[in-house]
Amino acid sequence: MQKFIFIAELGLLKAEVYAGMKNRTYNVEITLDVDGQIKEGSCTYPRGQFVCHHMAATCLYGHEQISVTDVQCQWTVRRSIDRVTQTVEASLNVKRHRSADRNLTDEEIKEFHEKL
Ligand SMILES: [Zn+2]
Repeated sequence: MQKFIFIAELGLLKAEVYAGMKNRTYNVEITLDVDGQIKEGSCTYPRGQFVCHHMAATCLYGHEQISVTDVQCQWTVRRSIDRVTQTVEASLNVKRHRSADRNLTDEEIKEFHEKL
């Protein structure tokens, strides 16, 4: 996340999100309705016409950073000299959810995917 702005009056999240593999950013805009539900989103990533991981990262970042008392906030994430690309999971320190108490076999995972 290079830059993140939340404009509460407009329900608008704007962000510059690092590309996964390239040294560039994509501009993301997410509009929320009055209940805080996502109304629409856009991303300048060529394949981000529908929903992409840059929008997902913006939503997750906003979820972590915005509190209900915020009117207008802006965070500029300082760019480090040696940028390290992290997964959203790692940057937000999300604990991995596991529904099984053991590692599933490839066969079980394949069977599960076929049922989906
Ligand atoms: Zn995108």
